[in-house]
Amino acid sequence: MANFTTHLYGGAAVASLSSLGVYSLGLADTRQAQLYFVLGAIGGLLPDIDSDSSTPVRGFFALLGVALAFGVSFALVGQIPLLALSLVWLSVFCFVRFGVFEVFTRFTVHRGVWHSWLAVFFVAAAITNLAYWFIETPALEAWLSGLFVAIGYLTHLCLDEAASVDLLNSRVKRSFGTALKPFSTASLPSSGLMLVALLVLIHFAPSFDPVLVAANETGLISEEFGIWIRDPSRWLADLRGFGGSMLSSDWAW
Ligand SMILES: [Zn+2]
Repeated sequence: MANFTTHLYGGAAVASLSSLGVYSLGLADTRQAQLYFVLGAIGGLLPDIDSDSSTPVRGFFALLGVALAFGVSFALVGQIPLLALSLVWLSVFCFVRFGVFEVFTRFTVHRGVWHSWLAVFFVAAAITNLAYWFIETPALEAWLSGLFVAIGYLTHLCLDEAASVDLLNSRVKRSFGTALKPFSTASLPSSGLMLVALLVLIHFAPSFDPVLVAANETGLISEEFGIWIRDPSRWLADLRGFGGSMLSSDWAW
């Protein structure tokens, strides 16, 4: 299993190259490129939040607690007295740092659902929605934020898999295949729950059009492909036609 430092460097390296990429394509200004880099690096550490009570996990929940406590009390400034405000801050912080942390560690298994492709999509969709609805960033920036966290996240899973192959002794450790799996068969209820949450997030996600337009303008995809993917009825018809031809053709074995 790759360690914390490997994940920090790995995630940061891939995130910096990717953010340079979007910057040079003109899809991000300097501030956005820096933000994407930080998001990618954080994404590279995120999957191990399932490894109970490790220092980074405690640190993550402490940071999340501070951020949420700040957010909630900031929204209440001027509406309640200062003393009550500090009590709100403290309650939110303790709730996240100890309450949510406790529940989370009890219900997660290391290398369970958080080390899977499903989690990559879930995290990307969650960050996109969070950025769009709560921080009110434009759709393109929200999607790119989600994409960068996903890039870092995926780097982490690849590093975990790479670490399970011992190249010098040409043998494969038991952990092989536990990081880059489609979903977790060991914890099916968690996988099901994450899938439902992902579908809800996709339902509420902002329009994907700005991403396709930007990708088309920078020459990453052709205009026809953009139109094709934006209009589901077309590719559903294509798919149905393909399925139909598969069924009707005579199979000569
Ligand atoms: Zn890991």
